[in-house]
Amino acid sequence: MIPVCEPTLSGREAEYAADCLRANWISSGGKFIGLFEEAFAGFCGAKYCVSCSSGTAALHLALAALDIGPGDEVIIPSFAMIAVGNAVIYTGATPVLVESKRDTWTMDPEQAAAAVNGRTRAIIAMHTYGHPVDMDPLLEIAAGGKIAMIEDSAEAHGAEYKGRRCGSIGLMSAFSFYGNKILTTGEGGAVTTSDTALAARLRSLENHCFGEPRFVHEDVGFNYRMTNIEAAIGLAQVEAGGKLVEMRRQNAAGYNRLLAGVPGVETPPEAPWAKSSYWMYGVVLGPEFPLGRDEAMAELRRRGIDTRAFFHPLHLQPAYSRLKAGRPIAAGAMPVAEELGACGLYLPSSSHLEDEQIRKVADAIFEIASG
Ligand SMILES: *Cc1c(COP(=O)(O)O)cnc(C)c1O
Repeated sequence: MIPVCEPTLSGREAEYAADCLRANWISSGGKFIGLFEEAFAGFCGAKYCVSCSSGTAALHLALAALDIGPGDEVIIPSFAMIAVGNAVIYTGATPVLVESKRDTWTMDPEQAAAAVNGRTRAIIAMHTYGHPVDMDPLLEIAAGGKIAMIEDSAEAHGAEYKGRRCGSIGLMSAFSFYGNKILTTGEGGAVTTSDTALAARLRSLENHCFGEPRFVHEDVGFNYRMTNIEAAIGLAQVEAGGKLVEMRRQNAAGYNRLLAGVPGVETPPEAPWAKSSYWMYGVVLGPEFPLGRDEAMAELRRRGIDTRAFFHPLHLQPAYSRLKAGRPIAAGAMPVAEELGACGLYLPSSSHLEDEQIRKVADAIFEIASG
């Protein structure tokens, strides 16, 4: 079976992790936290990086650092990973779901602008499968200073928007380092920002807002700490970061070449202003494809190829329709989110995927397409 995604740990990960065990620093103290944060901030082109325990925690921290809560609204794409909606719900604020652009699979800035009202406190731009959101129109909305622009870069390590790295564009940016992300620490996350006061606030919230004296707390914080072992693995991953992103892009170029012209198979977008990280190589099946998405996935699995379906849009999530309060609001019809959710899947996408594996996957799709 060709797995859909595996971590690529071919640098100094084992050496650095063993260093933590030898030094007896296995929780959130120890030298690798600071080293990792500094290296990752540099990788993104941001001033600060505050590490935490997951991408979900990073999103929650970013919202909490802005004191977003009940009565507030946060604009997010409906075609998104559930963590984006959940993080808003954890704060007590209401997610406002907007449609995506058909050409980039990312949030439609015009729809986002139309959803702004007096309660809007933030917009979360999720860079979908590594393709950056068209940020300029959103930054314009945020320029008045009342609405915060937060990036969700969990899938976009090393991706660029008009030459700027994702993670350095919004007021804050959330990252995940889960095992299938381009840079991984197993489980883990971070918020990057260039705002000094916000960085301090994030750092405090991430660790229970410990005060002076130590056990007197001025605010309710969280235990969202990353461990030294995770940071050690993360440092080795950042050292390999540029190479890992390049490998993802090479894989995408290989798939693009082999799948070009297969009827009913739409290959992933890359807008002229974008450099995608191609976190996952997604395809959308059109009506000319002989099988539906789920049947195609089953057929690929029979041929030893593991795939995943695209996100199920948030406005269709049973978990949200069951909420008693703070239920997400859908800002209009969402035909694009629904089509992507029903017809999209992603193919094996590990950084270290081999050319023969890409060929095997493409051949299988070609065969299925030819009946
Ligand atoms: C993976 C992911 C997250 C959540 O990250 P975890 O580390 O799994 O909590 C959030 N947003 C997006 C876009 C993701 O892909």
